[in-house]
Amino acid sequence: MSKDQKFETQAIRTQIESTHAQEHSTPMYLTSSFTYTDAEEMRASFAGENDRHIYSRFSNPNYQELIDKLCQMEGAEAGYVFATGMAAIFSTFAALTKTGDHIISCRSIFGSTHTVFTKIFPKWNIETSYVEVDNSAGWESAVQPNSKIFYLETPTNPGVDLVDLEAASTFCKKHNLILIVDNCFATPYLQQPIKFGADLVIHSATKFIDGQGRVMGGITVGRKDLIEEIYAFSRSTGPALSPFNAWVLSKSLETLAVRMDRHCNNALKLAEFLSDHTEVEWVKYPGLKSHPQYEIAQKQMNAGGAVVAFGVKGGLEKGRSFLNKLKMCSLTANLGDSRTIATHPSSTTHAKLSEEERQKVGINPELIRISVGLEHIDDIISDIQQALAQG
Ligand SMILES: *Cc1c(COP(=O)(O)O)cnc(C)c1O
Repeated sequence: MSKDQKFETQAIRTQIESTHAQEHSTPMYLTSSFTYTDAEEMRASFAGENDRHIYSRFSNPNYQELIDKLCQMEGAEAGYVFATGMAAIFSTFAALTKTGDHIISCRSIFGSTHTVFTKIFPKWNIETSYVEVDNSAGWESAVQPNSKIFYLETPTNPGVDLVDLEAASTFCKKHNLILIVDNCFATPYLQQPIKFGADLVIHSATKFIDGQGRVMGGITVGRKDLIEEIYAFSRSTGPALSPFNAWVLSKSLETLAVRMDRHCNNALKLAEFLSDHTEVEWVKYPGLKSHPQYEIAQKQMNAGGAVVAFGVKGGLEKGRSFLNKLKMCSLTANLGDSRTIATHPSSTTHAKLSEEERQKVGINPELIRISVGLEHIDDIISDIQQALAQG
């Protein structure tokens, strides 16, 4: 691997060293532990004096390959992998905070992350203040002497709102906050938050990194000093990824660029189709000029991504009947799959939020989220067209 190589090449050519069998494709290291030739090597390994693997709760060659690759793709110094995206989020925050710390988070965040901040962290007296994505005056007034972390997702789920990463980084530098960005929707192919000043980037690898709805995983990459704390926390608390899933995810990264190109082309065509449709109230997609933050998208993203949000005329009832009439698109909780997926966030992924909280983050009853897949765009559009048409 070489730092000079292009993104696509790094994603394919970053590999751990071959074994004596000189395999071309990295093998799976399905082993709980690793052996030593003698007591001295074992002692040195436990003392951290060599980089030998000890136990797969700590490290494993398959994790290492995935970490190395994602660090290159995100421009990060170091990283660690987890069983799920939520394990990455929980472990990252639990490692970096202590009782009495304060988190500032954008209000529009993934449903389970919201639950962690509002229901779990308060048990340890770690409080979270929510701010709006586009109101930096509101960010300022949320700062307290004990504020430690600023957390955001961009684009947000499910509303595909954007946060200006450069503005967020300036804000964090001013107040000495750690900037953590959930980059799940964009992937490093479309957006690299570290370039704009983020300290850490988190991924649910379950989504576009796997990209085919098969395995779960989570990754945190970024500043080495912070990753060391996260690693120390995680190796004792056990949120480890399985080597099998790490192998799948590393293989999946080889095709991330070509998949994202197709996802984005399909999503833009669908967003344009929906914009012209008489049964559609509104459409939000970062690749459309009509997106209220189109300028920010142009500045920090290479394309609009795979997720399109829209409202069907007729509200909740029409929204649900639209879902019922779909013949090809899947009704499922996931996103970032090769298959196009339609969801109704207010009755599913964000049902745990109060009505008031949903309103604040713009999850209206008519909102439908489409994670546009890799099928032929004509088939995606014709399924959505027939579901809209039957009114
Ligand atoms: C899915 C998702 C998560 C959580 O990831 P899991 O792998 O399901 O635990 C976190 N953030 C975002 C934006 C997501 O879409």
